[in-house]
Amino acid sequence: MIRFDGVTKQFPDGTVAVDDLSLTAPTGKITVLVGPSGCGKTTSLRMVNRMIEPTRGSISLDGQDTGRMDQAELRRGIGYVIQHAGLFPHRTVLDNIGTVPRLLGWDRTKTRDRSRELLERVGLDPHLGDRYPAQLSGGQQQRVGVARALAADPPVMLMDEPFSAVDPIVRDQLQDEFLRLQDELGKTIVFVTHDIDEAIKLGDQVAVLRVGGVLAQVAEPSYLLAHPADDFVADFVGRDRGYRALQFQATPRLPLRSERTVVLGERPDSDAGWLLVVDDDRHPLGWVEPRRIGGRAVEDADLHRGGTVARADGTLRGALDAALSSPARRGVVV
Ligand code: ADP
Ligand code: MG
Repeated sequence: MIRFDGVTKQFPDGTVAVDDLSLTAPTGKITVLVGPSGCGKTTSLRMVNRMIEPTRGSISLDGQDTGRMDQAELRRGIGYVIQHAGLFPHRTVLDNIGTVPRLLGWDRTKTRDRSRELLERVGLDPHLGDRYPAQLSGGQQQRVGVARALAADPPVMLMDEPFSAVDPIVRDQLQDEFLRLQDELGKTIVFVTHDIDEAIKLGDQVAVLRVGGVLAQVAEPSYLLAHPADDFVADFVGRDRGYRALQFQATPRLPLRSERTVVLGERPDSDAGWLLVVDDDRHPLGWVEPRRIGGRAVEDADLHRGGTVARADGTLRGALDAALSSPARRGVVV
């Protein structure tokens, strides 16, 4: 696990980018740092692999202070992906992926084989290996960036807005594939984004930062939505629940095909009851307008036939509270 302990970063010009941050990123989980531009997300991330030295406090990996690890240990142990992939323009895709293994002194054949394996792992056609970054789309470049970060199989991955620069449809695909990959690999990930929807979709836990580098709240996504700690978090996660509902409505995982957990909620800008869908970890997946499910009307009675649908008070918060407190959450087939 990664542990930030009272970490502060003040730059020489006096800017306090991160202020007394204490946070644990659990092993094998995705911790998302989210907050508005300038709130210290990148600075926090770069202190983990010591690209930036903290002014105060310590950061440890499984109890080992990263300030005492040498460059080779940091490279081996921590993969790093940035927004514009940061690929070397004059190196082929395969050579880019092999960057860290080369620095670590792996032999050529092993580096080559590993790079090819990763190319496929991130869903890229093997023939792209000999291309240069400029000959790839933005989404493909990001995949190469992820492959490069994974090359030496580091237990920890730092990801700084890796999907922000690609268009929304590709972003959604990359997010889905990233979640699938993470299911297989189980890395300890700190993922930075300014996009609360991305944070909620990807995070096992979400840490909300405010400008000035102060941690406002850290919680599971569903808890964050249901119980924002203060007005800042409430505004940031979307006090305007109509907005949130519309965002979720656009989630392409819907409409549902299989058995899912749902709770009844009310979309604020409509009188109709809506279904809030949550996954097995109780993360909200999206909203479905009942009458659209399966092309037929879904009555309250249908909802109760499953016997496990929680009743809500008609608000998103109520729906989430109900979802979280309901002892049996599965059972409605739509
Ligand atoms: P985020 O990634 O959340 O957008 P950053 O961590 O990049 O935020 O920056 C946090 C704050 O620190 C901002 O106010 C930024 O201007 C400032 N900052 C970042 N790097 C430096 C630097 N090298 N010198 C001075 N201020 C910096
Ligand atoms: Mg940043």
